[in-house]
This record gives sequence, structure tokens and C-alpha cells, in this order.
Amino acid sequence: PILRSVEIQQMRLKLPILSEEHLIMESINENDVVIITGETGSGKTTQVPQFLYEAGYCSDDKMIGITEPRRVAAISMSQRVAKEMNLSSDEVSYLIRFEGNTSAKTQIKFMTDGVLLKEMKNDFILRKYSAIIVDEAHERNIFSDILIGCLSRVTTYRRNKLKKPLKLIIMSATLNLGDYIENNKLFSTTPPVIKLNTRQFGVMVHFNKKTPVDYVKEAFQRAVKIHTRLPDGQQEVNRLVKKLRKTFPLPHDFKKQKILSNNEIKIEKIDETHFNIEDKENDDSDFEVSAKKFKQRLKKMKEDCLPNICLEDYATKPEDDEMEMYDTDDELDEEFFEESLILGHTFQPMWVLPLYSLLPSKEQTKVFEEPPKGCRYCVVATNIAETSITIPYVKYVIDCGRTKVKLYDKVTGVSTYQVIWTSKASADQRAGRAGRTSSGHCYRLYSSAVFNDFEAWSPPEIKTKPIDNLLMQMKALNLECVIDFPFPSAPDTLQLKTAEKRLTLLGALEQIYRGNKEYCSKLTPLGENMAKYPVAPRFAKMLCLGSDFDILPYIVLIVAALSVQQLLLNANDETSQRWRTLAGTGDSFLLGDVMVLLRALGAAEYARTTNEGLEKFCARYGLRCKAVIEARKLRVQLTNEINLNVPNLNLAVDPCLPVPTNEQARRLRQIILCGLADQVARRLTDIERKVAKITSHKPAYRVSELEHIIYINSSSILKKQQPEWIVYQEVYQMNNKFYARGITSIEP
Ligand code: ADP
Ligand code: MG
Repeated sequence: PILRSVEIQQMRLKLPILSEEHLIMESINENDVVIITGETGSGKTTQVPQFLYEAGYCSDDKMIGITEPRRVAAISMSQRVAKEMNLSSDEVSYLIRFEGNTSAKTQIKFMTDGVLLKEMKNDFILRKYSAIIVDEAHERNIFSDILIGCLSRVTTYRRNKLKKPLKLIIMSATLNLGDYIENNKLFSTTPPVIKLNTRQFGVMVHFNKKTPVDYVKEAFQRAVKIHTRLPDGQQEVNRLVKKLRKTFPLPHDFKKQKILSNNEIKIEKIDETHFNIEDKENDDSDFEVSAKKFKQRLKKMKEDCLPNICLEDYATKPEDDEMEMYDTDDELDEEFFEESLILGHTFQPMWVLPLYSLLPSKEQTKVFEEPPKGCRYCVVATNIAETSITIPYVKYVIDCGRTKVKLYDKVTGVSTYQVIWTSKASADQRAGRAGRTSSGHCYRLYSSAVFNDFEAWSPPEIKTKPIDNLLMQMKALNLECVIDFPFPSAPDTLQLKTAEKRLTLLGALEQIYRGNKEYCSKLTPLGENMAKYPVAPRFAKMLCLGSDFDILPYIVLIVAALSVQQLLLNANDETSQRWRTLAGTGDSFLLGDVMVLLRALGAAEYARTTNEGLEKFCARYGLRCKAVIEARKLRVQLTNEINLNVPNLNLAVDPCLPVPTNEQARRLRQIILCGLADQVARRLTDIERKVAKITSHKPAYRVSELEHIIYINSSSILKKQQPEWIVYQEVYQMNNKFYARGITSIEP
């Protein structure tokens, strides 16, 4: 039995999911696949594992596995559940890539979906588990989609063949479940859906009239405004109550009537202060405006005159518990901020906490702690707070309406970040965060017209990203015929075909024929090795080929430098020109633009060990500091992975890696060429230029794959040299012309 503390017990009892424990466990016992949906904060993540545990799902040395799309969630949720159950982190543990606290005693295991997929490579039918919970399934990551597809098969196998069923529980914050339940290929019997009725309070949604471009500034101003104008602490409550009483005075002959138990009516005298309000503070027109609004609203509600108006009525209660939306006429005026700051209004201090995926988990858990007395709690979060982590105490939400997405380059598989509008579903999730503990407000920093143009749902990742890596990972799981795989939503055939083609060209895939013209492909031994590295397949190939001990550290450095975005800040900038000059001396030309990155990252790594430090160094040489740090992490990760795969190699991450010798550079180039074997271009001959009617003097190239003519990017150090054959990292389009970036020459 679990020995929970009284405090935890009381907290649990308040969760809506607790009254559904019986129904949930009954459904799970009777069905192999169950879907549970419920608003963020209803208790899915923290409670369902406990229900399973108490129902005996951890007996016989079996485990309960929970997958989270984000590392933070895996860590913080395992800690929370351990605490609630009064168990140690040995028993309720987490495992994310290269970090974790699992032990032989682990019974409940939180992990990222990638980690479980990796476990399935060794044990596809997950013998160690009695139940798998796929959490946050609405996020529709490529990996969770694949997991659900695989698990649908595993549950059938475990029931019919192994006679030891595996339970699959899919949990989601939204109801966009069509891809799961109306999909016969995925689940032959439609799984039951349990909808948790959440006690969600009303949230009033305020749209901006205008949609400012600088949403960070706007968000700041909105936060200042909320903090200075909207009630929070006791002081404000008292002040506001006074104001309200003044605005809506009780009639002087008003008597409070109270019906006693014996049906007698007792007339109570009202406290004199209700009638004689002495307001010593200066009238603050802001509150007057609010009061006027409230008055109008009150009229609309047609409610009886209440003798006591409490703060909740004013500040937070919309007409009903539905989400209400209107365009706010309450435009932000900059003067107000300046004024209030200059006048030195003494505002309550703000307890501001950041929250984002990359924040160290120690910092992240601070949001769950009670803020210091007398402070306003304020969390500035990315969309991690949308559903995966429930932040407490929130009454006001400021939604910038944007989302930063990782867009994968279709050519290189390298990611870029872009800020785009979010979906309607996500915006509503964000608004919902204000209504967890009481009714609240959501300020949208965009107009309702802009909102109406939002997509209803964000598309699942599998539809928007190149799937080369996914395909490679699936093949590593021995899923040969990907076309037949039960995807929640399948990638289109073109996507699959290009991925197959690219992987075959890289030597990772080979066709296998099975009678009847039906053909499939499987990984080659090289492909199997490649699948072990968490980078784009072409970079994984470079890692696999760099088998020499003296070359590998450079390959790791190059792959890390190529995998992060924008290591060099401004391509035409004088400072980065220095790297080019440096990289372009003598035989260093061998590696072309890759040498620029290699030298830049190598020097930045060295700078970390010097007095100057990384930040100053980056500023001096035009490097993006965050990219250097990211590359460093990837370097460590890749080095660890190599050491796992190649015993006794003991590769280390050397911060003072010397510049490669010419002989080494030559070998490195061969490896780069192998990785980019499908991205080769040839310079056009004079005749070809004439035929193509090229008027400019720029050297033009042709790629067999593309029908377009491509030019060398102007920041390339090989621009003058114009080698006849080149490989490139990426082709991008600008002003109707195509440019290749990251050039290495093929010539000897
Ligand atoms: P769901 O998964 O349905 O979104 P959770 O199980 O994550 O809900 O959260 C249930 C409740 O537990 C919420 O009220 C949340 O505030 C609380 N909670 C979750 N994690 C912590 C934590 N680390 N500390 C305190 N409370 C927490
Ligand atoms: Mg959750």
C-alpha cells in the first residue's frame, strides 16, 4: 500500500480524475488500448500511473512506462509522482538520453518517447512492461506517432501470442482524436475514450485591436499593466473593495436580512463603513474605468443588488463559465507605463520565473514552489506551459500567439527555427491555463481577425518534416514495409519515396525482393550503425566512416558544427571574413567552407578555457554563442554514443583540438564527400552556359537532382576558385535563384 502524506491526500482529492479512478481502471482492465482526455491539470500524468500501480500493474517485476515528448516533463513528473507516492527515485525514475536515475528497483519509469523507441530496438514486445502510457499524444511528435503505431501491434501480439497483455493508455489534453479512433489500420477495435470533466473555471479572453509586431515589448507592457492595475495581494483587495463599495453604495436604509433556522427573520445592522467610505487615496481613474465597466456588466447580469461585492465578482468572474471572447477596447498606452514608472508608484515586487525546455531542471521546478510573501508570481514560459507542465497560481495569461517551430531543411535535414502563428487549439490551451484554480483572464496580443486565420490544429510533425531519419529508425526496428505501417497519420508517398531514395544513395538502405513484385527495403550494416546517432543520416554516415582515432574528434566537431544553426553570425561581416582567410590558407582549402566552421568552433571551444571566456570571444569573432554551446552539447553526446558503440576507444572531447594537418584534412574531405554523396554539383561549361542563356559572370552549377541552375553562395571561400565539382550542405532559394551553401571541392 502507498503511504501518502495528509497534505498530498488532500491535494489529490481535489483532482477531478480521482473520482474517475474506478471507471478508468475498469476500462484499462477490459481493453488493451484506452484513450484518456482531460484538460491540463486534471491529474492525468501524476495520477494514472498511481492508479495502475495500486491496481497491481507493478507486480511480477513488471514496470509501468510513461513517455513524454519533453525531457523536462519526464524529469519533473517522475519527481512529483515519487513524492506523491512516498517512494524513492530508485522506484519512480526517469530516463532521458544520457541522463536518468533508473535502477533495478524501478517500477514506474518516465522517459522521452525516443528512449522507449530505442528500447524497442532490443525488445520490441517490451517484456519488462505491463503498461505503457503515451502522454501528451495531442502534440503529435513523429516519435510518439511511431510509438503508437508500433504499440498497436505489440498489444495484439502480447495478448494473442504471449498471453501476457500489455496495456496501452494514450493521454491527451485535447479532443483531436480522429487520427486514432477513426483509423481501422491503427486499432482494429475502436478504443474507448474517457473524457475527464475538468473543473475548469471561466476564462475571459481579451483580444488586442491591433496586432503588434514586437510582441515581446507588448507582452512586457501587458504584464506591467496587469501587475499595476489588476488585483492580487491583500492590499489591492482592500483597496478595490473600498473603490467598489464607493461605486455601488448600499442604500442608506438597507438592512441585511437573515433567515434563522426557526424561520424567524433577523435584521442585522450593517457595518457603518459600508456607507461612509473615506477614500484618502487619490482617485485613480484607472479603477474608475474598471468600475464603470463592471457596472455595465452587472446590469447585464441582472442580478440582485448584493450587499457585499467581493473581489472575485469584480476581477475574475465572467458572465458564465464558458470562455468568453471580445475585442478589448482597453488599448495599451505607453504613456501610462512611463508615467507610472516616473511617478515612482511603489508596486508590489514581482517574482518572475522563466520556464522553457532548455532551462536546467533545478530552475524549472521553481515554478511549483510558493512565491515569497508579498510578491506577485509571474512565469514567462514557452509553449511548454501549454499542456506538458501545469503551472499553479495562474490567473492572467498573456498570449503572444506565436510559436517557435523547428523547420527541417528538406535538403540537409538540418533544422531551423521560425516564429509563426500558433493554432486555434493551442491558443485555447494557453487561455485555459488562467482558469485552473479560479476564473481568469487571457490577453491575446493579436486581433480576433488574426485569430480567425489561425489553423484549427497544428499539423502533426510527420507531415511537415523530412522523414529520412524516421524511416531509418523504423527500419532499425525491423519494420520493413513502411507503407503498411499503421501510422496515426501517414506521411505521403512522395515523402516516403524521397526518403527511401536518399537513404539508398547514402548506402543505408538496400532493396529486398519478395515474390510477386512486392518489394521492401532494409538497412545495410552501415545503415544499422548510422541509426545509432541522433543526427541527420548523412552526418551519421560521416561518424560511422571516421573510424580512425585521430580523425574521429574532427568528424564529431564537424558534425556538431553542421548540425547547429547559424554558427557564424553575419556571413559578410569583417570578423567572419577572418575565419575565411584563416581557413583558406594553403591546403586548408581542401575542406572549403567546412574548414571555416571547424576552425571557428575549434577556436571558440579553446576560448572557453582561456581568460577571455566564450561570450567575449564570440562577440569579437562574430560567432553565435548559443550555437557554440549547443554544438558542445552535441559533441559530448556524440562522443558518448561513439564510445558506447566502439568499445575501448575512449574518445574524449578535447577543448584544445589542434588544426588538422593536411594529411588529416585530406582524409576528412573523403568522409565529407561520402556523407554528401547525393549533393554533388558540376560547373557548367561555356557551351552549357550559352544554351542556358546565363548572362551573369557568376560560375553556375548543375545538380542532377534539381532542374535549376545553382550558384555558389557569396560567402563561400571557394567562390573565386570555382572548382569543377563540388558537394554542398544545402541549397536555398532567394529572389528566384538557387544558391548552394557549405561548399567543399571534390578536386584532388
Ligand atoms: P495533467 O497531466 O492532467 O495535465 P497533472 O497530473 O500534471 O495533470 O497535474 C495534476 C495536479 O498536480 C495539478 O494541479 C498540478 O498543479 C499538480 N502538480 C503537478 N506537478 C506538481 C509539482 N511538481 N508540484 C506541485 N504540484 C504539482
Ligand atoms: Mg500531463
